[in-house]
Amino acid sequence: MASISSIAEALLSPSPLVLLLGIIIIIGAPLLQHIILARSNAYTTPPTVLLLGPDGAGKTSLLSLLERASSSSSTDNSNDNNTTGPAATHTSQTTQTIELSCSTDSDTATSFRSPDDATGTHTKFLLVDTPGHGKLRNVALGKLRRAEKLRAVVFVVDAAVLGEHDALAAAASYLHDVLLDLQRRAGSGDKAKAQGGPPVPVLVAANKADLFTAIPAAMAKTKLEAELTRIRATRSRGLLDSGVGADDVDAGQEHDSWLGEYGSEKFAFKQMQEFDIDVEVLPGNVIGDGPGADKWWWWIAQRVSH
Ligand code: GDP
Repeated sequence: MASISSIAEALLSPSPLVLLLGIIIIIGAPLLQHIILARSNAYTTPPTVLLLGPDGAGKTSLLSLLERASSSSSTDNSNDNNTTGPAATHTSQTTQTIELSCSTDSDTATSFRSPDDATGTHTKFLLVDTPGHGKLRNVALGKLRRAEKLRAVVFVVDAAVLGEHDALAAAASYLHDVLLDLQRRAGSGDKAKAQGGPPVPVLVAANKADLFTAIPAAMAKTKLEAELTRIRATRSRGLLDSGVGADDVDAGQEHDSWLGEYGSEKFAFKQMQEFDIDVEVLPGNVIGDGPGADKWWWWIAQRVSH
């Protein structure tokens, strides 16, 4: 009994040193936890990847595929009911955002179906689908201008219809606006760079490679470049025609509205490198037999992981 009361007495009357230590721990622990969490990515916005492209190209299908794949690979460590069923059906009329995680440091990282194993570093990122319909294009371009920590743009095109003039013209006209926006964002001076963030690379995902009408990615690239050359010339002429005379058009304005190397006869995607913008055209498909979406996934993983 004596020992219990002496222990109780000792506990209730701690030395000033123990008291001080206790106060430091009580105040210091939450402070330390806050500092650690704030330094980790927990409180920062993950990098963003935007899905753009004309209506019907397959953006929403791609988003759903990646969402399904990522949720089925993480069923073991999640209690969320959504992870067991198929991904919710999305429509292209609205903007959808999903969170995904990818890795570039294992052999299996080339596939989005790779199991969510704990080894290696995984980078979380947001994949944002945008409406492709002409009337809602401003919503998509607004996302492009305002997205926080934008790391990449995936411009999805339907390779099965790119052989048709109207579809090609529609896709190229949208791509022109996207690239011109990114070109302006990359800018040339420090001020523009500070406002727009680092240059954003673009993947032109030539989708529907499973269909026999789909043209090869190399041909899709050539056709898009040729159409962009035509659009660039038409828009530049339009700018001149809209003025009372050529002298009235501000030279800076024309320069600012010209995609790629100023004054060049033909447009080529590699001209975007002048603005540090990398453009790559890769084939794939979301549905059916074909190369699938692995190449696109690997391209995205490399862009968000550094
Ligand atoms: P979005 O408007 O760009 O979001 O396009 P959707 O994802 O709504 O797809 C438009 C149509 O194309 C749908 O009927 C899809 O099933 C179909 N589709 C999407 N990807 C593929 C593909 O890789 N191959 C084939 N054959 N059809 C596809």
